[in-house]
Amino acid sequence: MAKSRVTMQPTRAREMSTQSVQMLNPDAWREGLTTAQRGYGGKWQRARLGFLFKNPICETCKAKGVVTEATVVDHVIPHRGDQKLFWDTSNWSAKCKPCHSEKTALEEGGIGAARKG
Ligand SMILES: [Zn+2]
Repeated sequence: MAKSRVTMQPTRAREMSTQSVQMLNPDAWREGLTTAQRGYGGKWQRARLGFLFKNPICETCKAKGVVTEATVVDHVIPHRGDQKLFWDTSNWSAKCKPCHSEKTALEEGGIGAARKG
């Protein structure tokens, strides 16, 4: 019975552009997915560590003249589940945790106090 729940043929999936899905619900790709299914699996962990090894300083802090250790790889353009954007290293940016949280909060509609000021 494993195949009974297939809802989309590969050809149908191609017809349906990612963009139209995003317009309906920007967060739809996230719902009900595990971390690994979203693309944050072991491959990502390894790629992330390699990137941070080469880019150890937070780019946001560096722009302000502050040197802070980067611990997070941020996607400059939010990938929203788009694998091409997700793995495009030119779209990656090294960030420290506070800078990343601030950016994410702003992108997601200002959760918490990050929007104040
Ligand atoms: Zn920072």
